[in-house]
Amino acid sequence: METGRVLFLTGAVLTHAVVGYALVRGFTDADPRIGIVFGIAPDADFWFPAAWGWPLVHRGLTHTPLFALLLVVGAYAISRDRTAALAVGLAISSHLAIDSLSPAGIAWLFPLEASAGPGLPVHGPAATAALWLVSIGVLAWRAGDDPSIR
Ligand SMILES: [Zn+2]
Repeated sequence: METGRVLFLTGAVLTHAVVGYALVRGFTDADPRIGIVFGIAPDADFWFPAAWGWPLVHRGLTHTPLFALLLVVGAYAISRDRTAALAVGLAISSHLAIDSLSPAGIAWLFPLEASAGPGLPVHGPAATAALWLVSIGVLAWRAGDDPSIR
């Protein structure tokens, strides 16, 4: 894989992790590491062999509302903790929201394959900077609530 592509993908995955972390840290009392794990979880599909085909492709099954719902229900079934399930939902929903605005979009109507997005450069430099700034803003806002950080 070419260096530019590796840097692009690394930046995109890090952005999903930061946004997920900030949302969980900012709006729940759950462990914010849940935001990192489930913020990047949909991109586990990069590891799917190309031979598998739809829906086990990048931006396929793991980028659908159905998959997100299954993870939230699964998180609740395992933890019996609504806050943890909310954290999972926030993190994975942020990933789907960001990716759905990209040119490739996501399959909102899964199992239908149609997935065109509005074509915004959501993983471009400007959008990445905006997402990081908003995430840092959320973390700074919540840092005031944490006596261990003062
Ligand atoms: Zn993705």
